Amino acid sequence: MIELSTPLSQLKGARVKTLERLKKFKIETVKDLLWHFPFRYEDFSNISKISDLKIGQHATIRGEIVSVKMWKSWKKRMFIIEALVSDDSGSIRAIWFNQRFLITVIKKGITVNLAGKIIETKGGLTISHPIHEIITSLKKDASELRHTGRIVPVYPETRGLTSKMLRFLIQPILKSIGFLEDPLPEEILKSSNLLDLETSLQTIHFPEKISEAINAKKRFAFEDLFFLQLVNLRQRIKLSQEKAYSAEIDLEEIKEMLKKLPFELTHSQKKSLWEILQDLKKPHPMNRLLQGDVGSGKTIVAVLSALVLAKDGKQIAFMAPTEVLAKQHYETFKKFFKKFDKGVGLVTGSMAKVFYGDGLESDFKKNELIKKAETNDIKIVFGTHALIQKYVKFSDLALVIIDEQHRFGVKQRAELLKKSLPADRKDKSNINIPHLLSMSATPIPRTLSLTVFGDLDLSIIDELPKGRKEIITKIVAPKDRDKAYAFIRGQVKKGRQVFVICPRIEQTNTDLTQTNTDLTRTNTDYAQTNTDSLYNSVSSQYKSALLWENVKMVKEEYEKLSKNVFPDLRVAMMHGKMKAKEKNEVMKNFSGHKIDILVSTSVIEVGVDIPNAVIMMIEDADKFGLAQLYQFRGRVGRGEHQSFCFLLTESGSKSTHQRLRSLIEAKSGFELAEKDLAIRGPGEFLGEEQTGVPDLAMKAVRNPELVKSSRQAAEEILKIDPELKNYPLLKTRLEIFQKDVHLE
Ligand code: ADP
Ligand code: MG
Repeated sequence: MIELSTPLSQLKGARVKTLERLKKFKIETVKDLLWHFPFRYEDFSNISKISDLKIGQHATIRGEIVSVKMWKSWKKRMFIIEALVSDDSGSIRAIWFNQRFLITVIKKGITVNLAGKIIETKGGLTISHPIHEIITSLKKDASELRHTGRIVPVYPETRGLTSKMLRFLIQPILKSIGFLEDPLPEEILKSSNLLDLETSLQTIHFPEKISEAINAKKRFAFEDLFFLQLVNLRQRIKLSQEKAYSAEIDLEEIKEMLKKLPFELTHSQKKSLWEILQDLKKPHPMNRLLQGDVGSGKTIVAVLSALVLAKDGKQIAFMAPTEVLAKQHYETFKKFFKKFDKGVGLVTGSMAKVFYGDGLESDFKKNELIKKAETNDIKIVFGTHALIQKYVKFSDLALVIIDEQHRFGVKQRAELLKKSLPADRKDKSNINIPHLLSMSATPIPRTLSLTVFGDLDLSIIDELPKGRKEIITKIVAPKDRDKAYAFIRGQVKKGRQVFVICPRIEQTNTDLTQTNTDLTRTNTDYAQTNTDSLYNSVSSQYKSALLWENVKMVKEEYEKLSKNVFPDLRVAMMHGKMKAKEKNEVMKNFSGHKIDILVSTSVIEVGVDIPNAVIMMIEDADKFGLAQLYQFRGRVGRGEHQSFCFLLTESGSKSTHQRLRSLIEAKSGFELAEKDLAIRGPGEFLGEEQTGVPDLAMKAVRNPELVKSSRQAAEEILKIDPELKNYPLLKTRLEIFQKDVHLE
């Protein structure tokens, strides 16, 4: 008997080669295979008469093979099989490219269904490279057909693993599989109007009508969303049962601190600070996401929150995604709070410093600094990932701040939180968990944050400090490149500085390109996500090869600009392959105005603050996502001068231009985010670590109703049964789900 857990290798008729290919997709059991869903369908359910066929039509025909021949096209260097097929109404040519094995299959005299596009060639109407299915007398009934003559599933495929193979494997399994218990409780199926598991599995693979497939997909999307919500909500419940340091908030003191700042906080900065302080007062850990456009002033809000705790003698870890940024935060702190004498540290891969107020700053060895954190000799520690390495310990960590949080995986967050739990303490019941404040400049659409960050509370800074000018954004065609250079020269002569960004990935690797086109050809919408996950699954070796490609691009651009275009100006270069020290040096020189034009990869993407930089020129802008472009643009427009953003693109495609134009038209980051979500899907907003979220759920995020109803269902079930005691199957599945998507 076939069960979900049955390994595919135990199925009759599965070829070793196919199994190997499936394994590459992590498809090893019946469950894996059945959950490998089609991403679209072709409707071949109507069989056309050959005499009715029209050029350009996608059609299914049924006829007899009258003749077959194979020949080699020298020009195209491929084998071509050509057959003549006829039915009662007429006959048509069919051709296949490079499918030599077909010569043993498509034989004279057999009856076949052929499904494919009708094209015109020198030889007349032709059905080109059709899907075939041999019709035996057994198969007259539509439900027996797998590949033609019905609505046919098309699977995400790659070289060597075709939809046809998958159909061939899946259909018999669906017929012989035993009873499948549904993890979704019946009352939820009813109240949310969803198909049960068995029906959904049948119809997602072999629907009789497209509407059936849509309903099946909806059910699976709901299931994933529902699981995500359960994970989130249970996380919240768990956290609310934990203890945290509850801060004394002295409003007068805070007002004093605010008075000393060189500017007044904006209304939304004040509101966000207030929300954070309310959380810090509670004896349970905060888990809050502070969202705000680039330049909206999140750092100061976070730093003020940190100070409140530091004054109570507590420790704060402030983590940034890059060294440059960690250092910048540290410097900002020193600038605004010169008198703070309880110890502020900076620790990154390459440096360790401590500041004790009034200019007292010294360099330390890293392990000395770590000692200081362990003995509570420093209160606030700024740092990069280095902060979460095993050897960094805090004696009294009360708050963890994570800047640009979407770049950190959930696992890393958990890692940091664990730092507060000394291993040697036996009794964990009385231990304080640090509060957690995450920050993100990526405006995340509400449906998405509800799903993926549903365990977080939100504070939003939705205004920029007074006096910021709008950044003039232009799409620049190749023919206007020189004008852009002339403009840059003019600005540099006025004493301004310029960023030139080159794309991260150069698609020269044939392997990746090949797979990409394979997928894109089929359906652009879903293909996007598939490519993303494919990209994520390529080996790190391969990724570093990509990185090298991209270094080369930056180098080329740098050579060109420094030697040919601006030989008289000070041009420098920065990329991810440079040592941290070198990068710091470049950044330091740029912010010290020893460089006019900085050519860089996206390593400058986050947070860098250089008010004198007024032009952001982005090469091959279409290679970046909107959210990323938005982040780049935010690097300029931080000072008093009018700033500009040039989006260069060689693409003539209308949709590309439309996409880029939304960067010009959007009134706010949130509006843009909604747009991006609609155009490209949610993958755009999340870092690699979070792409573990199931595909369908990610797509379903575009469906606010489904998000809402899944959340409601999760809330209701947890209200009655927080431990899911009455739903053992749901509970088990949830645990597996949690592991699969790395949400623990
Ligand atoms: P982001 O939200 O992108 O992290 P930052 O915190 O880096 O933004 O702030 C950007 C700049 O704006 C910094 O130089 C900061 O000192 C300044 N700033 C922050 N709040 C205000 C304010 N209310 N008024 C004027 N300038 C501010
Ligand atoms: Mg920032």
